[in-house]
Amino acid sequence: MMDKMQVKPSIYSLKYSDLKEWLEQQGEKSFRAAQIFDWLYKKRAASFDEMTNLPKSLKEALAEHFDLTTLKTIVKQTSKDGTMKFLFELHDGYSIETVLMRHNYGNSVCVTTQVGCRIGCTFCASTLGGLKRNLSAGEIVAQVIKVQQILDEIGERVSHVVIMGIGEPFDNYEEMMSFLKIINDEKGLNIGARHITVSTSGIIPKIYQFADENLQINLAISLHAPNTELRTKLMPINKAFKLPDLMKAVKYYIDKTGRRISFEYGLFGGVNDQVEHALELAELIKDLKCHVNLIPVNYVPERNYVRTSKNQIFRFERTLKEQGINVTIRREHGHDIDAACGQLRAKERKIETR
Ligand code: SAH
Repeated sequence: MMDKMQVKPSIYSLKYSDLKEWLEQQGEKSFRAAQIFDWLYKKRAASFDEMTNLPKSLKEALAEHFDLTTLKTIVKQTSKDGTMKFLFELHDGYSIETVLMRHNYGNSVCVTTQVGCRIGCTFCASTLGGLKRNLSAGEIVAQVIKVQQILDEIGERVSHVVIMGIGEPFDNYEEMMSFLKIINDEKGLNIGARHITVSTSGIIPKIYQFADENLQINLAISLHAPNTELRTKLMPINKAFKLPDLMKAVKYYIDKTGRRISFEYGLFGGVNDQVEHALELAELIKDLKCHVNLIPVNYVPERNYVRTSKNQIFRFERTLKEQGINVTIRREHGHDIDAACGQLRAKERKIETR
């Protein structure tokens, strides 16, 4: 067990600039950084040994300092619609979920940023059991690599990334930022900023910080309610970061980046899915450059929420449209597998307590 804990840092945690710096410290030429990134991210090497254009001494130094194999696949489920869901085991025995979604516009990977979550949303499976630890940037990158290796078999690439797996990305800000820089790097996986979406439950100071990063990355806000009272019931974080302040932060983000923001709105039967809620929501966001994603609730056994009927979902959508709001109903992926965030992990939780 001790051995297991004393793992080397993952090579995937290094931004290009970090790798260059490390090479310089080793007395190596900095052009090696490009070669190593090429092996890691373009050729998807599975060991340092494969990096045949590097001198033997450098390959040994890399192997001595860094780990290249961090994720072990424990469960892989494939849905009829092509969605694949993975349960990966980390070096310390914790497990995380990653999802691949096949769209007509490309392949999108949904990544996890934390083992568990401490935000405590009342409808979410990820928060059951609280937060165990943050993931390193490398552990987040490795999820994309693992999925890319599967797509390599059919000659396709990961074109989109959504940070909508387990965890609150803004609660693990630094590692999340490194992750974004690594996958966005043109010498790496080269996933375009406009093809990346970060979703937050609304940690306001981090929304300002993220706006000031001057990136073209999409931001989604898990809103789920049109007023303070209801949002606090669904999401206790609303006590610390209040709805009116959240809306100010959102406005700042839009003004600063020029980007359209997405609001995620889960429809929970009899809770927030009435026409009056749609009207109130429209009023709240009508002056913002935004888009609403309606998410039919994913049933979580440990949670008491029920699905909104199809008719009611369409009525909600129509009401928003009539008020001039951009809205779509999220297409459901992998409905026949454990698609909701944290569901697979919750089911397989014996792994965590071993
Ligand atoms: N912590 C971040 C990232 C998670 S994204 C966030 O809160 O935004 C996953 C999205 O699915 C969030 O909008 C989350 O609120 C929503 N979600 C979680 N559990 C759900 C459920 N049972 N049904 C529908 N949506 C759910």
